[in-house]
Amino acid sequence: MFDVETIIRQNVLNLKPYSSARDEFKGDASVFLDANENSFGSPLSENYNRYPDPLQKKLKEKISSIKGVPSQNIFLGNGSDEAIDVLFRIFCEPKTDNVIICPPTYGMYEVSANINDVEVRRINLLPSFELDVERILESYDKHSKLLFICSPNNPTANSFHADDVEVLIQKFPGIVVIDEAYINYSKQKSAIRLLTEYENVVVLQTFSKAWGLAALRLGMAFAPQIIIDYMNKVKPPYNINQATQQLAMTSLDNIGWVNQHIRETIAERKKLEDALQQNSLVEKIYSSDANFVLVKVKDAQATYNYLVSLGIIVRDRSKVALCEGCLRITVGTESENRALLNALTKFTA
Ligand SMILES: *Cc1c(COP(=O)(O)O)cnc(C)c1O
Repeated sequence: MFDVETIIRQNVLNLKPYSSARDEFKGDASVFLDANENSFGSPLSENYNRYPDPLQKKLKEKISSIKGVPSQNIFLGNGSDEAIDVLFRIFCEPKTDNVIICPPTYGMYEVSANINDVEVRRINLLPSFELDVERILESYDKHSKLLFICSPNNPTANSFHADDVEVLIQKFPGIVVIDEAYINYSKQKSAIRLLTEYENVVVLQTFSKAWGLAALRLGMAFAPQIIIDYMNKVKPPYNINQATQQLAMTSLDNIGWVNQHIRETIAERKKLEDALQQNSLVEKIYSSDANFVLVKVKDAQATYNYLVSLGIIVRDRSKVALCEGCLRITVGTESENRALLNALTKFTA
């Protein structure tokens, strides 16, 4: 049996978390003189003078009903990036522990490891962009605490085989973090379903992509309750501000908008792929399960610079291992994609 407390840092096991005024008094009252807030209000019409709910109870209830995950299995962070950092701080002893990542992948795992002074073991994806399960399983030791799997993966745009992911969950002795920032665009089922079966899984999702709320900074982690409880102990007390909590609640009532734009994005992605296929500059389009496409072109840097000169910005990934010669292009609106395609047609000519 996996016992998560055997891999949590001793200082975190012993941690007495910060107890705020909001934590200590939970009943109903009419006079709040406990938190040194501004009793007179704020320059805004909304009541932003009060500290927000540290555990975002109402917002989690709404997310719970949409995701089918109990509230006690949900953590909210200032972006998924905060959830990633909090996981490092719970599980990884600086200068001693290590984590495994599978490049090319999202850059934040390595940055967060470096900030926390934690060794990174890089097991590249196979040339097919699949997980190198065998090498991952050869590379861990007793100090390997986190394994990051980004599916659909950024920047390769593919989802990994569900069987590979499950084998890793079964055999990796630490926590398997499955980053599903792009899951809403994917044919693959969410790994959330694995939470009822395994104790060592954390699934990350975000409001930054399909929900269209990158500016709010709101990320979700779904995990066994014991992990969520430690995440809540380690996070800054008021990590999700009141405006974000309110705006996210309103957005969750507009799930129809979100679903419609997911469908639209996928339709535009197909059109973009088909049009790029016709362009002689393009050598390969990798199959996408996300809201972007990875495209191998004849001269990535020249193409990138040319597009920049026209005010069209894509991501040059041509120096990244396994992505040589590739640009990563976000699926835009119909007119944005047309502008890109028109520009590329002229560049060929
Ligand atoms: C965009 C993205 C995120 C989102 O991070 P936030 O901090 O929630 O905005 C997370 N993971 C991956 C792989 C991403 O590409």
